[in-house]
Amino acid sequence: MIRLGLIGYPLEHSLSPALHTAALNASGLWGQYLLYPVPPEDAKGLRDLVHLLRRGELTGLNVTIPHKQAIIPFLDTLSTRAKAIGAVNTLYVRDGWVIGDNTDAAGFRVDLRAFMPAPASALILGAGGAARAVIYALKERDGCVHVAARKVEQAIALGRGFPGTRPVEWSPEALGALDVDLIVNATPLGMFPQVDSCPWPEGLPLPHGAAIYDLVYNPAETRLLRLAHAAGLRARNGLGMLAEQAALAFELWTGRKVQAGLLLDQTAQTAR
Ligand code: NAP
Repeated sequence: MIRLGLIGYPLEHSLSPALHTAALNASGLWGQYLLYPVPPEDAKGLRDLVHLLRRGELTGLNVTIPHKQAIIPFLDTLSTRAKAIGAVNTLYVRDGWVIGDNTDAAGFRVDLRAFMPAPASALILGAGGAARAVIYALKERDGCVHVAARKVEQAIALGRGFPGTRPVEWSPEALGALDVDLIVNATPLGMFPQVDSCPWPEGLPLPHGAAIYDLVYNPAETRLLRLAHAAGLRARNGLGMLAEQAALAFELWTGRKVQAGLLLDQTAQTAR
């Protein structure tokens, strides 16, 4: 039996159980995907779950907010990309070693390709784990990447980890002066239940011709995406990325390839 699950907090609204149950069904595998809510600061909770993996009582785990960085000290090693990103979202075991990997970056890259193949310049709003994965994916190609964080020192620190990334102040003046092809929201602003919040400054027009990618997918149309649609801009939520990163994690755990689109279709049917 394949035993999978998700560590994070809170987890009630996660779509991951539905996506991975669809993946198990599509692959004809017997298994389950459970939620493991671990409150922030509960280091013992994290360590215990990593032990279950090491002992073979679990096959694999996903990790989400707020533990993508906090869990790293309990792991045996990191994949090259997880090391470069500095955050993990997938744990699996090889030869008794618990390995931390990151499929967010590849999930974003694959989903972005369908939306906007080659942005020459991008602005990332936020400097947390997801922002790091997005920057890692964007820096695989040439192109200018600006990062804005409410604490500008975080954007500066991120720039040190990803040379060539330009920190920018999160102010209407600084953001309004940028001319970029792509804006990515990598903050939780706009996410349920704070659906009225928006990372873009009130009253500031979005850059003409920019495409907007919101990593948030609940609600499907965030306030930022509504602004983009009203301005006639191309806009996409994070659902495609979520399904792509899930498909990649599932392959690491089981060796089976599943189509992200199929997972989304099956999840939507179950929700009906
Ligand atoms: P994180 O590590 O906690 O980082 C969140 C970032 O947003 C931090 O820079 C934080 O700044 C900033 N932020 C939080 N509240 C803010 C506010 N009120 N104003 C301005 N900045 C604020 O979280 P994460 O893992 O990067 O996730 C960020 C978002 O991406 C979440 O909504 C998550 O659900 C989404 N996500 C989606 C996918 C997907 O597959 N679609 C994958 C990963 C993440 P401070 O440090 O100052 O708080």
